[in-house]
Amino acid sequence: MARPTRQKNVVRKRSYPAARLARQQPTVPEPNRLLKVWRRVLERRLRTRLRAKVAVEIHDNTHTMLTFQRQRAMFRLRLHHMFLAAPDEVIQALADFVRMGDGEASTRLDRFIERNKAYIRRVSPEQMRKRIRLEPVGRHHDLGRIFDRLNERYFQSRISAAITYGPAPRVKGPRKSIKMGSYAADSKVIRIHPALDQPVVPRYFVEWIVFHEMLHHVYRARKGEDGRRCVHPPEFMEHERRFHDFKRAQAWEDENLDLLLRSRVEG
Ligand SMILES: [Zn+2]
Repeated sequence: MARPTRQKNVVRKRSYPAARLARQQPTVPEPNRLLKVWRRVLERRLRTRLRAKVAVEIHDNTHTMLTFQRQRAMFRLRLHHMFLAAPDEVIQALADFVRMGDGEASTRLDRFIERNKAYIRRVSPEQMRKRIRLEPVGRHHDLGRIFDRLNERYFQSRISAAITYGPAPRVKGPRKSIKMGSYAADSKVIRIHPALDQPVVPRYFVEWIVFHEMLHHVYRARKGEDGRRCVHPPEFMEHERRFHDFKRAQAWEDENLDLLLRSRVEG
């Protein structure tokens, strides 16, 4: 009698765990709870090294892997989830970087991010662009036309970037500096400061700024010999000098920067 019973038990036992898992889902930690636990562990690891309060927020961003700010005695860090399971030397580098902006620590962090880039979600430039409203047509300068002409003249129309006026940044009082253009490599979008869309700003000046940003599409930023990020490598500078009105545009900037700094842009 004993034998068949045991066999029956064995059979039942085999099918048991799967059935139980299906029925008792709450015993499996939810991803959010797991994340909370891991985040707390990371906060503790940082806290012991920084000897200060630490608040960590975990994200899944595609571009900026870490940012931080100091609020009195507290450090706030926003980190990509790859840092959750980072080894001790990386946590130490993170602490050194946050505390003293340590250049060597920054290099170690770069290396860690490079090794773990497989964890960075891939979003195509097209997907990223869908979230951006492109407004290339200004009141005075049509960026789309400027871009197309430059693309034809200098790049055999091979540059597949989008262009738009950037949103007017809210600045109180006179500006101290102005970022006239930018290029976002992830979305392949060139943004031009709306202050350039004025009749007093000559066409060749806007063209030069657009040309400069197109070169950012051609020459990616890379690490220079000193380990720093080099956004304008020598070949970039060399290429930029081929712009037809390079000297004239530079001269105009020297003389009129004040005008651009003072200009008010109606959003
Ligand atoms: Zn630049």
